Amino acid sequence: MGEFDLARGIAYDRTHVWHPYASLKDPPPVRMARAAEGVEIELADGRRLIDAVSSWWCVAHGHNHPAIVEAIRRQSGRLCHVMFGGFTHAPAVELAERLVSLAPPGLDRVFFADSGSISVEVAAKMAVQYQRARGRPGRAKLAALKGGYHGDTSLAMALSDPDGMHVLFRDIMTRHFFAEKPSVPFGGEWNAADFSSMLRTVDEHEDEIAAVICEPVFQAANAMNFYHPQYLRELRRLCDEKGMLLVFDEIAAGFHRTGPRWAQEHAGVAPDIMTVGKALTGGHMTLAATIASGEVAETISGGTPSAFMHGPTYMANPLACAAAIASLDLFAASDYAANVQRIESRFKAALAPLAGLPNVADVRVLGATAVVEAKSLPARTDVERVIDEHGVWLRPFCNFIYAMPPLVSDTATVDRIAAAIADLAACPPGPPQDGDFHE
Ligand SMILES: *Cc1c(COP(=O)(O)O)cnc(C)c1O
Repeated sequence: MGEFDLARGIAYDRTHVWHPYASLKDPPPVRMARAAEGVEIELADGRRLIDAVSSWWCVAHGHNHPAIVEAIRRQSGRLCHVMFGGFTHAPAVELAERLVSLAPPGLDRVFFADSGSISVEVAAKMAVQYQRARGRPGRAKLAALKGGYHGDTSLAMALSDPDGMHVLFRDIMTRHFFAEKPSVPFGGEWNAADFSSMLRTVDEHEDEIAAVICEPVFQAANAMNFYHPQYLRELRRLCDEKGMLLVFDEIAAGFHRTGPRWAQEHAGVAPDIMTVGKALTGGHMTLAATIASGEVAETISGGTPSAFMHGPTYMANPLACAAAIASLDLFAASDYAANVQRIESRFKAALAPLAGLPNVADVRVLGATAVVEAKSLPARTDVERVIDEHGVWLRPFCNFIYAMPPLVSDTATVDRIAAAIADLAACPPGPPQDGDFHE
């Protein structure tokens, strides 16, 4: 890249380049990133910010991890891409084997997708093709949870909270079936009434439901809700009884974000299909996967058509697969669960006192995720001040001031993040904000 004119670049960005969930008319400020290393993002002016958001929950091992960068470099010298229709390659095969070895027993068929949303679409289409092949073509919808989030493409939107960020597009979305958001918190006392809405939903629409989809234990982007694992055990039983598939979306919660490798391990139950993404490549390339049981794959293959009808252009991109293999090597090389436990205890100790602040409604921590639910978010100017003063990148949304730092964050990093959150939580509520809805 030649000499980059910073001022001109930022001006052009403001007027011509859309950012996520942002207006092009008087857009919120963006910072120019120049480099990143470890837990920090370096700005064009040389300042560094701790990435307390792991760049949307992906950067598990830290930014630009040398082992992952080297794997991408090595792969790029051989094969950057080849169509997956009619070809295969070593990184895809090796990654599939690795994922199968980590997935719960029986989940051993892998479909590679290019983003989390697409892997959810794929899971839903698998469920529908599965029911067709079993002679139940009427089962062409899914049941999902209020408060859930499964992505921004149309099928994934239609499975996300119907009153959440996608409400604008209600008329172009297929209507699926929704149960109430689970309300018994993780660590709380289980109450069977919490499952009654799901029971009712499934009873009423039994002949139309192919599968139930949820984010196990941790509803992320639409609710920041940690719920009781018993919910998942009830759900497994219900799906078995009704011949419905169970889909766990582990895109946010997987790879130790809540402690164990998979959030479903809190419940000790496995799904028929699961989706993984985000931290799969450690935040170095875009890649996701849908992992299905042999039973699901074989049933689909016994139907008409026997082919599973999906195939993205960049399916199983070799660079992304190589990055993911290197990321899985890092997960295997040290004890991430222990690291996450250390982050969890530190956040719990540091943030618990905030519960008494006038603008704080709730404080909750699970694994390497800390959430301070404000009564109302502080003003944009306070958010900007806290980011700059503490050198900690935070991106509050809805009423949530939260951190999901890299899983390798040391204690000093966690303490700095907690201090920034504490400062922000003590600020008065700001005016309502437009648009900046999503995380
Ligand atoms: C982020 C997310 C998705 C969507 O992934 P993209 O890569 O943004 O398409 C789906 N499900 C969950 C639970 C997520 O957190």
